[in-house]
Amino acid sequence: KAQLYDKASPDAKTTFKDVAGLAGAKEELEEMVEFLRNPTKYTEIGAKIPKGALLVGPPGTGKTLLAKAVAGEADVPFFSMSGSDFVEMFVGVGASRVRDLFKQAKEKAPCIIFIDEIDAIGRARGKNPNMGSNDERENTLNQLLTEMDGFGTNSGVIVLAATNRADILDKALLRAGRFDRQIYADLPDINDRKQIFKVHLRPIKIDDSVDLEFLSRQTPGFSGADIANVCNEAALIAARNGKKVVTEGDFTSAIDRIVGGLEKKSKITT
Ligand code: ATP
Repeated sequence: KAQLYDKASPDAKTTFKDVAGLAGAKEELEEMVEFLRNPTKYTEIGAKIPKGALLVGPPGTGKTLLAKAVAGEADVPFFSMSGSDFVEMFVGVGASRVRDLFKQAKEKAPCIIFIDEIDAIGRARGKNPNMGSNDERENTLNQLLTEMDGFGTNSGVIVLAATNRADILDKALLRAGRFDRQIYADLPDINDRKQIFKVHLRPIKIDDSVDLEFLSRQTPGFSGADIANVCNEAALIAARNGKKVVTEGDFTSAIDRIVGGLEKKSKITT
């Protein structure tokens, strides 16, 4: 399924509180929230509300989470699709899915459309020697450009797209009136890792001896997704051993396990 309509129930709503660190990104996105909540403040004075922004950063740094939090904070519906869903599509299907998505979104405006992995459809056209030309991908991209141009600046639809390869995107996507703003979600530094641990330790019963500073120090290069993984893995290890609380040793084992996974992944990609 390429599109989802998941206006979260009020208690399950994602907000900026769920996103640790990323202060710069949150600050820029606060403005998007304000556009959705209070559009007339801008339009009455003659300002054009941006249609879209690109969230750029390595995998697992919280781009999807940020997009959901914008919808949650503004209390508007969140529509999402992933660029990779469109790669193996039959002729015409990708473009018509994009058309449907925008049609649904416009009916529910104000709202957020989130396009994950936009590089899968938004790679520069005609520059893909490995796969030959992929006409359907181009059709999908062209449809996306058409849709971005087709809705008015003040339609109440804001399109957020995520990528870890902004450099390979078709320049047409980055033009004024499309994804003309870039918002960075970088890997967290030690302080941000501490904040991310705090978020993901919330539901977990931990031993008093567990030291956040220690955990943050042991996890350089970890993304938010990796940290979420560490917390859950540590809880699984503790539970497996019949413990009632998670100890620092469980965290160390979980970190070792995830470092092992990360090393394997980087061997495959390099
Ligand atoms: P991808 O590029 O792989 O799609 P992404 O940048 O969209 O990744 P998310 O899907 O938002 O990353 O993150 C995955 C999970 O990792 C989140 O659901 C959350 O549990 C955790 N996470 C990532 N970043 C953060 C953060 N800054 N604060 C709290 N949790 C985070």
